[in-house]
Amino acid sequence: MTERCSACPRKCNADRETGTGFCGVKNKIMISRAALHFWEEPCLSGAGEDTDGAVKAPLRGSGTVFFSGCNLRCVYCQNRKISRGEAGRYVTEEELAAEFLRLRDIGAYNINLVTPSHYYPQIAKVLEKVRPSLGIPVVSNTSSYDSVETLKQMDGLIDIYLADYKYDSAELAAKYSGATDYPEVARRAIEEMVRQTGAPEFDEDGIMKKGVIVRILLLPGHVKEACACVDRIYRTYGDRVYLSLMSQYTPVDIPKDCPELDRKVTKREYERLVDHALELGVENAFIQEGDVAKESFIPEF
Ligand code: SF4
Repeated sequence: MTERCSACPRKCNADRETGTGFCGVKNKIMISRAALHFWEEPCLSGAGEDTDGAVKAPLRGSGTVFFSGCNLRCVYCQNRKISRGEAGRYVTEEELAAEFLRLRDIGAYNINLVTPSHYYPQIAKVLEKVRPSLGIPVVSNTSSYDSVETLKQMDGLIDIYLADYKYDSAELAAKYSGATDYPEVARRAIEEMVRQTGAPEFDEDGIMKKGVIVRILLLPGHVKEACACVDRIYRTYGDRVYLSLMSQYTPVDIPKDCPELDRKVTKREYERLVDHALELGVENAFIQEGDVAKESFIPEF
């Protein structure tokens, strides 16, 4: 009998042997890029020589593997071709394992699975085989639109969750990502992630070994929403998770019915978000400095 897919909260029941569901890709793993990436949080990529922060490790990069397809459809997506499954190459489980080892061998601090949610079951099989010889942490870089049931399959296979918390309000989640239930689903998913990894741990150079970092991307005109996301996560977890407050939003082909998203965030907007976090007492947070909202930070595919 054909197995139907209910791997993520969309539960579309699609036959991914022959067709696709909401995520736009079949069962067969498709990746669009596997390379060192230098612009993740310093505890994942290492820090440049002029950095005098807590991370002392050199900038060696995070071993990112970008998966094609996505189970969200954010109107501000910067990589639509990839997220709709229109670009990429198919890899076997053995080839994916070989990519992980290659990235490790060229110096990656970790293997960073970007948008893995719709391939978790397939990735779990690969990690079960390769993890014992990998020797570096595995990061899930996820939108957090993950089902707890599927996340449980990753227990013991993922060391670090780099998890978005995109919206605290169902209204914005519906408008911008077509997922009214996103806040509720993401909160349950993050709870499971924290359960799996426990408190954050770093090596002596400040490189993360395990834990959860919650990314909050500030959207233009939505400081209040981002502050509500900070409140929610900090009040629930305190300093047991790191927050990453992101100002890098870059508008790319924004649909006409969302004109408010067609600009970068202002310095003032970002300062309001950071000030809010500081006033709340947040200590474990990454903030972005300078003009990071440049297209050069969107990797070439
Ligand atoms: S992983 Fe894809 S096909 Fe499966 S339930 Fe989610 S969106 Fe649907």
